[in-house]
Amino acid sequence: MGVEKIRVSIGSASVLGLYGGARFKDPPTTCYLMTYSAGNDPVGRRCLGNCGFCPQARDAESSLELLSRVTWPVYHLKEVFTKLKYLSPNKQFKRICVQTLNYTQNFEDLKYIITQIRRNNNTPISIAIPPFTEEKLKELKRIGVERVGIALDASTQEIFDKIKGKGVDGPYRWEHHFKTLENALNIFSEGKVSTHLIIGLGETSKDVAELIMRLSNMKITVGLFSFTPIKGTSLEKLSPPDLLRFRKIQLALYLIAKKNRTLNEITFNTRGDIIKFNLNKVELLQIIQESDAFLTTGCPGCNRPYYTSKPSGPIYNFPRKLTQEEMKIIYNSLLKYVN
Ligand code: SF4
Repeated sequence: MGVEKIRVSIGSASVLGLYGGARFKDPPTTCYLMTYSAGNDPVGRRCLGNCGFCPQARDAESSLELLSRVTWPVYHLKEVFTKLKYLSPNKQFKRICVQTLNYTQNFEDLKYIITQIRRNNNTPISIAIPPFTEEKLKELKRIGVERVGIALDASTQEIFDKIKGKGVDGPYRWEHHFKTLENALNIFSEGKVSTHLIIGLGETSKDVAELIMRLSNMKITVGLFSFTPIKGTSLEKLSPPDLLRFRKIQLALYLIAKKNRTLNEITFNTRGDIIKFNLNKVELLQIIQESDAFLTTGCPGCNRPYYTSKPSGPIYNFPRKLTQEEMKIIYNSLLKYVN
């Protein structure tokens, strides 16, 4: 007997017609699902990971309905797949993404979910997983997973250890995450493996840019999130990052990953802040008018509306093209950092 229940992000549940509450201004373009494991507890069991920012973490006291600031109600798997199957053409998702928590049966559950989706659905599937063995990664590729994400979250080994590893008695190790990313690259191929970095965990912008360079050289796609304090997590009192600092890191990611620029074209001060980009004003304007640098980053077709930002703002990752007003604000804020 396979999995019976699954969590669905509330925005995806709304598109699917599972959730009848308020309509969402910017609907998700990806269907976000999350593994659900009840164990002996009907509200579900916590992840074996203990990441300091995460409401699913082993020692967190947050609601298990949350991942980041988004609510994920539980539904019957059959009901979700029926809704997916009969979704009207104008509501079709560009991608399905399965967030996989760390628990004993997670691989078997994930395999079952993927197999069930693949029975009558050809939408590309991404998975966000804890580090799995090579054999498991091969098996997931074989049954139809297109892309895999393994989140580093932290931008330095020291912060990783403190927030996801030894410092929180967590199961993760920086080198092992990198080794699994390399294994995933060999199995899923270049450009099909991604990781996420959370900005605001105590790293400098230079730390982030150097790691983005390393990951881009490995052909790993990088997604950025702003840190979001969630009640009941050990980091609930930490503040989100400064918006301008986040904008500069978004621009750095875009220049390195999409325009093949090098670190020599970004100037940092002694504190590791970005103080200049080797760009002129026209180039900056073109980048802003195109919007891409400031949208949610990750797999193609993923917009994760308001995953880390309140709809009332400030918006860190935009889930859609920028408005003229937003372009103007971003241009004015970045103007003094270009030539
Ligand atoms: S492994 Fe993922 S779900 Fe588990 S605590 Fe860490 S971030 Fe949260």
